[in-house]
Amino acid sequence: MTFRPGFQRKLFLTALAAAALALFVAGLLFTRSMRRQTEVRIEQTLAAEARLAGALLDQIGRNPDGGAALDREADRIGTLIAARVTFIAPDGRVLGDSAEPEEALAGLENHGLRPEVVDAARGGPGRARRYSSTVGADMLYVAITVDHPRVAYVRVALPLTDIDEQVRSVITATAVALGVALLGAALIAYLLSARMSQRVHAIAAVADRYRRGDLSPSRLHLGDDELGVVARALDESVRDLGQRLDEQARDRSRMEAILGGMIEGVLVVDPAGRVQLANQAARQMLRLDDRAIGSHYVEIIRHPAIADLVSAALSGQTPEFVQLSPPRDEHRTLVARAAPATAGGTHGAVLVLHDVTDLKRADQIRRDFVANVSHELRTPLTAIRGYVEALSEPDVDPDDARRFLAIITRHALRMERLVKDLLRLARLDARQEPLDIAPCDVRAIIQAVVADLAPSFDERRQQVTIAVAPDAASVRADPAKLHDVLRNLLVNASSYSPEATAIQVTATVAGDRTAIAIEDGGPGIPDADLNRVFERFYRVDKSRARDPGGTGLGLAIVKHLVELHGGTVQAENRPAGGARFTVSLPR
Ligand code: ADP
Repeated sequence: MTFRPGFQRKLFLTALAAAALALFVAGLLFTRSMRRQTEVRIEQTLAAEARLAGALLDQIGRNPDGGAALDREADRIGTLIAARVTFIAPDGRVLGDSAEPEEALAGLENHGLRPEVVDAARGGPGRARRYSSTVGADMLYVAITVDHPRVAYVRVALPLTDIDEQVRSVITATAVALGVALLGAALIAYLLSARMSQRVHAIAAVADRYRRGDLSPSRLHLGDDELGVVARALDESVRDLGQRLDEQARDRSRMEAILGGMIEGVLVVDPAGRVQLANQAARQMLRLDDRAIGSHYVEIIRHPAIADLVSAALSGQTPEFVQLSPPRDEHRTLVARAAPATAGGTHGAVLVLHDVTDLKRADQIRRDFVANVSHELRTPLTAIRGYVEALSEPDVDPDDARRFLAIITRHALRMERLVKDLLRLARLDARQEPLDIAPCDVRAIIQAVVADLAPSFDERRQQVTIAVAPDAASVRADPAKLHDVLRNLLVNASSYSPEATAIQVTATVAGDRTAIAIEDGGPGIPDADLNRVFERFYRVDKSRARDPGGTGLGLAIVKHLVELHGGTVQAENRPAGGARFTVSLPR
C-alpha cells in the first residue's frame, strides 16, 4: 500500500472549495440584503428630505412673487440636499424644479399622473424608478403630499447611478471582508488537511509495516475521532489475524515436522485432485520432485494401481490396500492405502505408503532359517531312527550293533552341537551375551586354543606355528569370546585342510587395529563364496553337508562375536594356496 501524495492537496482543496462556496453564498445573500437595506434607507432619506423641503415651503407660501420664489427654493434645497427637487401643484403643474430654469417650467409635462405622484395622492410616500428625459438618466423618485396653499406634492429624486455607487461601496467592503475570510478559511483548511494527512500517513506507514510481516504493536496514538476508531479497529483485526496466522504457521510446521519424521509416505490430495502435501518419504517412494505440489495426482503418480487407489478414495470409497513395487525399484515392496479425507462436505484423499521391504526380507530370512534348521535336524534324526530300527531287529550282530551305536552317537552329538550353536546365535541376536572387555595376552590365548585342539592336529599330523608381533602382544577384548573365535577358525583350518599341512597363526598391528590371521594349506574357498561363508548354514561344498562334522553356523558365530567387539572378519585365498581368515579388532 503506498500513500498517494495528492491526499493532502485534495483534502485542502475540498475544504477550501466548501469554505469558498459557503462564503460566496453568504456574500451573495449579504450583498442582496445590503442592497435592499441601502435602497430602503435612501428612499427613507429621500422621503425625509421631501418632508423637510415641504416644511421649508411654509415660509414662502405667502410670498407675492410665488412662482419665481418656488423655483428658486427648489434650486436652493436641491443644492443643499444634492438631489433634484420638484414642487407640484394639486393639478399636476410643475411649480418649481431644481433641474429646470423657471422659464422652462411652463413647457414641462403635467406631472399629476406620474406614478409616484399618484401614489403620494393616495396617502403614503410614492416611489418610482424610471428614466428621466429632463435629467437624461435613470432616477429614483420619492413624492409626498404637503400642506401648502399652492404646492400639493414635493418630489425628491436621485440618479440611480448615485445609489448604485453607494451600494457598490457596500459590496466592495463586503468583498474585502469575504476575501479576508477566505484567506482565513484557506489557512484553517491547510492546517486541517496537513494534520489529517499526517495522521493518514502515519496509519498508512503502520499498515505498510504490517504488510511486510512486522506485526509488532504500533506505539502510534491513533486519536479518538472516527479515523482513530477505524484505524484502531483495523489495527486490532490485523494483529488478531497475524496471531492466527502465527498459530496456523506453528501448527503447520509442527505437522510438517511430524510428517517429515515419519518413515511412512503420506500424500494428501484435495477434492480437485491436486496434491496438497507430500512428505519426504512419499517423495522418495514415488520419486516425486518439488513440482509435485499443486500438480494433479494423475500427472505425477506413475503407478496405475496407486492412482486408482487415490481416485477411489476421492470418490468417497475406502479401497483395499495394494502391495506393489515402487516405480523403477523392483527390489522394494510398498503397501499403499488410501482413504477419503472429508472436509466441509467434499472428499479429498490421503494416501499412506509403507515400505515393507525389510519386513519381507526379515520374513524370508526367518522362513529360510526355519527351513534350514528343519533340514539340518532331519538328516541326523533320519539316520538315528534308521539305526535304532536296525538295532531293534531281533538278531543283530553285536559288531553291527556297536557300529550302529557309534553312528547314532555321532549324529546325536552333531544335533547337540547344532542346538548349542543355534542357542548361542539366538543369545547373540538378542544381545544376551554381554562383553567383558579386558586386556588380553594374544599369544597366551592362541596357545590355549592350540593346546585344546592338539589331539586333532596330532591326529591329522598338522603343524601349527604361532607368530605374534611385539606390539600385537596385547589386545582389549573379551578373552572367552576371542578364544571361541580363534577356536572356530582353527577347527575349520584343520578340518578343511588335508593331512600333514601347516597352519600359521600370526598377530600383527595394522594402523589402529590388531590383526590375527589364520592361514592353512588347504584348497581355499572359491572366490564367489568368500563373502557368503559367514551366512548361517552356508557351505561351499553342499555334499559335505551330509558330513556330520560341521553345523554351518561356526563362521556366523565368529562374525557375530567379532562385530560385537567393533571389529571385522574377512576371508581370502592366499596366493600360495589355502585360505586366510583375518580378524581385526580395535586396539
Ligand atoms: P561348518 O560348520 O560347516 O564348518 P562354518 O560356518 O564354520 O561351518 O564354515 C562354513 C563353510 O565355509 C564351510 O562349510 C566350508 O565350506 C567353508 N570353510 C570354512 N573354513 C574354511 C577353510 N579354512 N578352508 C576352506 N573352506 C572353509
